[in-house]
Amino acid sequence: MESYSKLLLHEKEKGRALNKKKIEKILRKLLIELGENPDREGLIGTPRRMAEAFEEIFAGYTMSSGLDVSFSEETDAIIAKDIQFYSMCEHHMLPFYGKIHIAYLPEGKVFGISKLTRLVEKYSRRMQIQERLTRQIADEITRMGVRGVVVIAEGEHLCMKMRGVRNHSLVVTMAHRGLMEQKELRENILTLISNSKPGLQSF
Ligand SMILES: [Zn+2]
Repeated sequence: MESYSKLLLHEKEKGRALNKKKIEKILRKLLIELGENPDREGLIGTPRRMAEAFEEIFAGYTMSSGLDVSFSEETDAIIAKDIQFYSMCEHHMLPFYGKIHIAYLPEGKVFGISKLTRLVEKYSRRMQIQERLTRQIADEITRMGVRGVVVIAEGEHLCMKMRGVRNHSLVVTMAHRGLMEQKELRENILTLISNSKPGLQSF
C-alpha cells in the first residue's frame, strides 16, 4: 500500500511543469543577443525544444527517491557499479556526465538498483557541482539507514573540455560515511569496485 502511494507521487512529479512559455521567450532573447535570427528555419523551434529539454534535465528538484526498498538479512557490502548520470555544472550551465559507483553495508534493508538509479537522478538532474552530487547521494543513503556507504563519481565536464585551458581529464570525487570511514575497509571495497562488472552485486 505504501509503495503504491509513493508510486502515485512519482506519477504526479512527472506532471510538474516549468513555465515553458516564459522560458521560450527568454531563450528567444538570448538567441538575438548571440547575434542569431531566431526566426530562421533551423532556430524557429529551438526555444520550445530547449524548454522541453530543461524540464527533463532539471527534473531532480521535485523527485523523491522513496521507491523499491526490500528487507533482507544481507550484511555484506552491496555494490552498484556504473550508474550513468547527466548533470549541469552550476558555474557554466554546461553538462557534466559520467558514472557513479555506490557501495554500502546494509542494516536490515537493501535498495534495488532502480532506487539507487533514481537517487542519482534526483541529485544530478539539477544545477550541480560534482563534489556536492557525490556528498548528497552518500548523505541520503546514510539517512535511509545503512552501516556505511561510499560513493564515487567519475565525471567529464564540458566546461573544462570546451573552454579555457581545455582540460580533458576525468574528475573523480568520493564521499564516505559510517563504517566506510575506516580506511582499510574502504580500500577493500574500492578494489572490489574496480574489479567487479557493471550492475548490482553483493560480496
Ligand atoms: Zn563548469
